[in-house]
Amino acid sequence: METLRPPDQTSARIIEAYCELLESPALRLRFIRKAVARCQDEGVGQGSKWPLFDRFRLRKIVVEELVPLLPAESTVPMPVRLAMTAYRFRVPIYAVSAVASVGLVSVIAYLAVQVVLASYPVPADSIVPPVATAAPAVAGATDLPQYAPEQIWLVEQGDGYEVYSNGARILTEFETDGPPRRYFAFPKGATSPDAAVEHTATPKGIVYHTSQSHIAPFKEEFNDKLQTSARALLEFVSRRRLYNYVIDRFGRVYRVVRDEDAADHAGNSVWADAEFEYLDLSGGTIGICFEAEWRPDTKLAPDEINEAQIYAGRVLTAMLRSKYGISDAMCVTHALVSVSPSSRLIGFHMDWARAFPFAAIGLSDKYAVENPGVALFGFDHDGQFDRAIGEMWPGIPLAERRLAETALATGQKDVELRRDLQLRYRSFKSWLSARDVEAGNGE
Ligand SMILES: [Zn+2]
Repeated sequence: METLRPPDQTSARIIEAYCELLESPALRLRFIRKAVARCQDEGVGQGSKWPLFDRFRLRKIVVEELVPLLPAESTVPMPVRLAMTAYRFRVPIYAVSAVASVGLVSVIAYLAVQVVLASYPVPADSIVPPVATAAPAVAGATDLPQYAPEQIWLVEQGDGYEVYSNGARILTEFETDGPPRRYFAFPKGATSPDAAVEHTATPKGIVYHTSQSHIAPFKEEFNDKLQTSARALLEFVSRRRLYNYVIDRFGRVYRVVRDEDAADHAGNSVWADAEFEYLDLSGGTIGICFEAEWRPDTKLAPDEINEAQIYAGRVLTAMLRSKYGISDAMCVTHALVSVSPSSRLIGFHMDWARAFPFAAIGLSDKYAVENPGVALFGFDHDGQFDRAIGEMWPGIPLAERRLAETALATGQKDVELRRDLQLRYRSFKSWLSARDVEAGNGE
């Protein structure tokens, strides 16, 4: 028995749409019957593997059945002419559509993969390259496998600014010079400082600071004050040559002391990577200062360290690491490296003694690294320090465990081992002083 149901809903809609071109209900009914019958006979609209091609065949049926029913004097309506044209050029249209679909699917798949990848935290070791000279992590730290080299280059340089390919934008209005870089790398565990390797010009690491400025609330009504305090800080830092970079409250990055010159930022300090130990880090590291007041409960918030600053810190870090082949292991905060030779304690300066957003900056967590001040040079920590940081850096007990193991192995008491390590520190310091190495006393 004949049925008026078209083969599928899409075909039904198309046939009904063309019905509108006929005025008489009788003609419409005739048209529908004929079109549906032909669809069934010719297998159109039966779930073809090539749906677009199927639609062309449907339109051919529609046109062939519709045109004889149109009034003789009328011209063929535009939709019908379009359908006829589409059918005539069905093969090229189909080919172009197929190619475009494949392209579109590829683009969507590529973007989806990028979005998924971007939503994962970037492992510290994959953000920037170590180059051939990059050293692995300190023992006990998160291991840093090979990172995929990322080339970041200077895109544009103008009056007072530089733009880099990763989005880093550096303002140079306050740029100044300083003493040329000169620093020494002591082979890990060396007993004599004479084994040191001298370096110049190229920085080996980055030390992050806060300005400890008392700053206005981060609100629009304080805009003028925020601007004024940033300029005052920059003028002060430039005059005193305190840092290589300052990131203000609006995430603007200013270069102050040029990269190839040492800023007076790290004072008495120690750090190490897997191969070398470093003392007095101003000479060998770039100092980056966030305009912020650090407290033990400092967090990422508009009134504390804000998102614009973190973003600026991330792209600046990536650019510097790419440019100088700085390893992740050598990117650390001031509190983590600062020591007091007179009191033999770590944490003389306390900026970023907690809450530095290592992951957000694209680095591994250095609070978790076996602390070189304790493990290699026998520095201690006191109750005041412990209270200030609230929660012990995991790297301190790690370092203390290593000391205990070494003491056990050498048959020394813990206190004797620490004293020997302190003597070692002092001999390295005297050796450096004899070579007139700049040992700054910055914040
Ligand atoms: Zn500092």
